[in-house]
Amino acid sequence: MNDCKNVWIFAEAQRGKLSPTALELLTAGRQLADDLGEKLCAVLLGYEVEKFAQDLFEHGADVVYVCDDKALENYLDDVYAKVLADMVQKYQPNKFLLPATNLGRSLSAKTAIFVGTGLTADATEVVINKADGQLYATRPTFGGNLMATITCTHTRPEMCSLRPMSYEKAPRQAGRTGEIVRFAFDPKKHTTLAKFVEFIKSQGDGMDLSEAEIIVAGGRGVGKAEGFELLHKLADRLGGAVAASRAPVDSGWIDYRYQVGLTGRTVKPKVYIACGISGQIQHMAGMSGSDVIVAINKDPEAPIMKVANYAVQGDLYDVVPAMLEALK
Ligand SMILES: Cc1cc2nc3c(=O)[nH]c(=O)nc-3n(C[C@H](O)[C@H](O)[C@H](O)COP(=O)(O)OP(=O)(O)OC[C@H]3O[C@@H](n4cnc5c(N)ncnc54)[C@H](O)[C@@H]3O)c2cc1C
Repeated sequence: MNDCKNVWIFAEAQRGKLSPTALELLTAGRQLADDLGEKLCAVLLGYEVEKFAQDLFEHGADVVYVCDDKALENYLDDVYAKVLADMVQKYQPNKFLLPATNLGRSLSAKTAIFVGTGLTADATEVVINKADGQLYATRPTFGGNLMATITCTHTRPEMCSLRPMSYEKAPRQAGRTGEIVRFAFDPKKHTTLAKFVEFIKSQGDGMDLSEAEIIVAGGRGVGKAEGFELLHKLADRLGGAVAASRAPVDSGWIDYRYQVGLTGRTVKPKVYIACGISGQIQHMAGMSGSDVIVAINKDPEAPIMKVANYAVQGDLYDVVPAMLEALK
């Protein structure tokens, strides 16, 4: 266990794109690595992914481990987890952060099992306990009413999946370089019974929530599925995206992928406009990092009206059309 060194982050790269979560994990990982006096390393798995190594160096990675093979072109749990587990066993990292994306949640769990170590899933903060160098990973629990800090005392690496948007992206340091370590894919060992058939992109009708600088979110106060058309109009006018609280998702007015909160997405836009949302703690868990919160609510006592930078008391069906008119 004492031989385990360095902080690893998994740099998710699929379909020719490096996920922004890689740069967020580099921010979290850099702090851990500096506190431990160890190196910050990124891991790239996939096909034609080595080209992202320079980007990772420029955002803080000291070493990039790459397994680049045609067999890794399409994500398959078993194959990726077996490769990653072999890399972990060969290079023995001390801490290992992965993104709590769909891919990362699945991959981190399988890899932890193959390696035989512990995983804290879906954390929002990681720190090094200076007394013993252990990773303390904190995550909401009991419906967001408590924050649990979880440690993994007996095995290494200490693994953790971190929620997207929990950390800012690491700043670019142009021209910064590092070391590339290549790891060979082994077709005899890195096998699976699963077969990749087809990739079907989800039919999003708008901008990716994680990239939106302005979000117009609707809650139970929207009252009906058609009400979201009005919010889409405002979002389009502002160049933003639409989101929702859980209530309209549960009512079937809007798809789950729009849900913000504890059991939905975490977002950090410049402006978050909450229409007919009361601001329960589970919703706030996903959007309280927004730069500016605008609340439109009939009830001046609604919790969100207390935390909003701009609280507009009124019926959203009066206020939103007035905003659209003003933005013409
Ligand atoms: C384990 C767990 C996980 C959860 N995860 C999530 C999560 O990820 N995301 C999430 O959002 N919730 C989550 N919830 C649910 C959460 O507790 C709340 O129930 C939910 O956020 C309430 O949604 P809401 O604010 O839209 O509805 P309500 O609380 O019913 O609020 C509706 C608001 O709309 C206002 N309003 C009504 N009509 C109008 C109008 N015409 N114009 C203006 N204002 C109007 C009302 O005054 C009220 O403030 C979770 C709960 C649990 C227990």
